[in-house]
Amino acid sequence: MTDIKKRLISIKKSIHRAEDTANRSHGSVELLAVSKTWAADTLRQANQAGQRLFGENYVQEALKKITELIDLNIEWHFIGPIQSNKTKDIATHFHWVQSLDRLKIAQRLAQQRPKNMPDLNVCIQVNIDNETSKSGILPAELFSFAQQISKLDNLILRGLMIIPTKTTDQKQQRISFKKACTLFEKLAEKYPSVDTLSMGMSADMILAIEEGSTMVRIGTALFGERTLRNSNK
Ligand SMILES: *Cc1c(COP(=O)(O)O)cnc(C)c1O
Repeated sequence: MTDIKKRLISIKKSIHRAEDTANRSHGSVELLAVSKTWAADTLRQANQAGQRLFGENYVQEALKKITELIDLNIEWHFIGPIQSNKTKDIATHFHWVQSLDRLKIAQRLAQQRPKNMPDLNVCIQVNIDNETSKSGILPAELFSFAQQISKLDNLILRGLMIIPTKTTDQKQQRISFKKACTLFEKLAEKYPSVDTLSMGMSADMILAIEEGSTMVRIGTALFGERTLRNSNK
């Protein structure tokens, strides 16, 4: 068995345990494999071990892998900052965009989504802790932003993505996750297409699931530490 397969099995076990703790059914939390900096071969191994959802942060790097892995059944999620000159590549190659936080970018993605492809699934990135100079829509602006997004053709609003303040204080982490979950539930009441709360990474996955995450984004725990050697950035 490959190391990746072993780690994948162990992560899935942890997810199931956290689902049990939270009285949630198995399968209520999806696993997104965050594969930035890792070569296509590594992703292929993970896919052969059963992983279907992959998240990428850099467009150029992702396009190379998407082309190399075109023979596989992979759902591609874009989770990095979006420059306007990259929206066309994103709109034509990805199934999901989780890092949406500007209307202009959303409009470009909507215009550039090819008509023969299904709607692009989008999550709004929320700056849940109101941190200065951090990506994401402020919680206070979420509902007016969501309304604008919901009017665009070729996009479908699926939910929220959050990256909380970096801290090891579990109390603080729970507060951020709870805030996100409350916003998510309100949003889902208003928009029936909303079913995804993307929160939790390698270090805080368990807490995130206990507080209502429906998708965890896992890089390090699955692929190992990202080093300069495998990094393009
Ligand atoms: C890199 C990244 C992750 C994965 O982080 P790990 O700590 O390696 O699990 C998750 N989400 C986003 C937005 C990222 O950029």
